Amino acid sequence: GIEITGITKRFGDFVALDDINLSVPSGQLTALLGPSGGGKSTLLRVVAGLESADTGRIEIEGIDTTDLPAQKRNVGFVFQHYAAFKHLSVRRNVAFGLEIRKQPKDQITAKVEELLELVHLTQWGDRLPSQLSGGQRQRMALARALAIEPSVLLLDEPFGALDAKVRKELRDWLRRLHDEVHVTTVFVTHDQEEALEVADTIVVINEGRIEQVGTPDDLYDDPASEFVLSFLGPVT
Ligand code: ATP
Ligand code: MG
Repeated sequence: GIEITGITKRFGDFVALDDINLSVPSGQLTALLGPSGGGKSTLLRVVAGLESADTGRIEIEGIDTTDLPAQKRNVGFVFQHYAAFKHLSVRRNVAFGLEIRKQPKDQITAKVEELLELVHLTQWGDRLPSQLSGGQRQRMALARALAIEPSVLLLDEPFGALDAKVRKELRDWLRRLHDEVHVTTVFVTHDQEEALEVADTIVVINEGRIEQVGTPDDLYDDPASEFVLSFLGPVT
């Protein structure tokens, strides 16, 4: 899991994360839910090591990673707009992280085929990223993130740029994928319905503070604050 202790992050005078304490359980799919500007991406970037916090500590699977650079944290990361290598095929894109880690060629080939199967892209493996649909491209991004066998997978609105129908398909698919691989996953969304449907645990964050942590049922049955109540309110 991930242990976040006393994380504070300021941008100038602005406090983006205000003393965040959070345990993300191993093997679960956790949604980080909150309104725009609440601090979701900043928290994910701090966990990934893409941004350093002013105070506090991050432990990933029992290892203190607070001062480790991103490449040494063994995290997989997918953003809303995924930057693929445009001139490389889907297969080569997925293989890339393994090649720079100098794994044996035959191992890489086997691993890439396994990953393409997992994200249902086997038949698209020789295409270029520009020849994929938005949803297929995000699935390729997930395969790339999973290639290094990360101890945690961090997804920042990975389906945010897609239309509602594809978004819903991918959300269901992510749930099934997670049930297969069980990697500790944190999934950022500002969509309460998405969080309620997909997550084991939901963390509600607003103005740099955690409002509530609980299962979808906990939040629905017993919202901890007016904010949580009104934020979940429109769901029927
Ligand atoms: P969204 O749902 O819109 O993506 P978010 O919850 O991911 O929002 P963050 O991106 O974490 O929000 O931003 C939290 C706050 O920190 C915002 O007010 C934002 O303007 C501020 N912020 C984030 N990054 C920076 C930065 N590099 N410099 C200055 N302010 C920043
Ligand atoms: Mg964000």
